[in-house]
Amino acid sequence: MSELIIDNLAVEVGGKEILSDVSLSIRSGEVHAVMGPNGAGKSTLSNAIMGRAGYTVTSGSVTLDGIDLLALETFERAKAGLFYVMQAPTEVPGVRMADMLNASLVSAGTGITDMPAALAAEASSIGFDVALLDRSLNVDLSGGEKKRSETIQMSVLNPKIAIIDELDSGLDVDGLRTVAARVEKLTHDGLGVLVITHFPRLLAELSADKVHVLAQGRIMTTGGPELATELERTGYGAYAEAEPETKKRPEIDDPFFL
Ligand code: ADP
Ligand code: MG
Repeated sequence: MSELIIDNLAVEVGGKEILSDVSLSIRSGEVHAVMGPNGAGKSTLSNAIMGRAGYTVTSGSVTLDGIDLLALETFERAKAGLFYVMQAPTEVPGVRMADMLNASLVSAGTGITDMPAALAAEASSIGFDVALLDRSLNVDLSGGEKKRSETIQMSVLNPKIAIIDELDSGLDVDGLRTVAARVEKLTHDGLGVLVITHFPRLLAELSADKVHVLAQGRIMTTGGPELATELERTGYGAYAEAEPETKKRPEIDDPFFL
């Protein structure tokens, strides 16, 4: 049993506080969905957990099975068992997927005997053209192909916890269903997932244990899967309009304050 614990996390980007007081914990086999309006800080949360440069944690902690992830470099966080599917996955010219995965597995002290066969099986199970496996990692792939490519990598690397930022971006309805079903299967083998999405239909295949609404850099509410369905009906208006704590009337009489 693994557990990722995010406790009271605050994150700054470019000197501006984007997230404050975010707490979440995800155990093996659980799926937590984070939903929220554009600009709420969902990708900032993922980037901060994975240690992307420019995302400064100003308070709080992130641990995986007791290991302080914030003290580690990004590659060490991956080695500890974290996998991150970025909203827009990075292209890596000159590096083939098989070579990257072999190097990662060796560095984690494991390996796979027949990588080409494993990749071909994963690719065909989610409708990824096997001819694309020989390309440089993610280079010149469509948005949907990139999400499939990342899903193949995740399946082969077998992480403890995956953070998946907008799996739905780039995938058509059928693609989304297939890829979400593959991730769901991984959760049955013990993968814990934090999935960022706008679409309750993703959660039809990848069933969420908890749904969190992130707006204005804070978790506004947490519920079960029914919350996702309700959000589709109501939108995020109520959460987006809640008065942020920083928007208090200034002490001085400011005629431009709205
Ligand atoms: P979401 O993923 O919820 O749409 P983001 O986390 O991408 O939101 O963005 C939250 C806020 O942080 C936005 O105002 C965005 O402009 C800002 N932000 C995020 N990343 C950066 C960055 N690298 N540089 C500058 N601003 C950023
Ligand atoms: Mg985002």
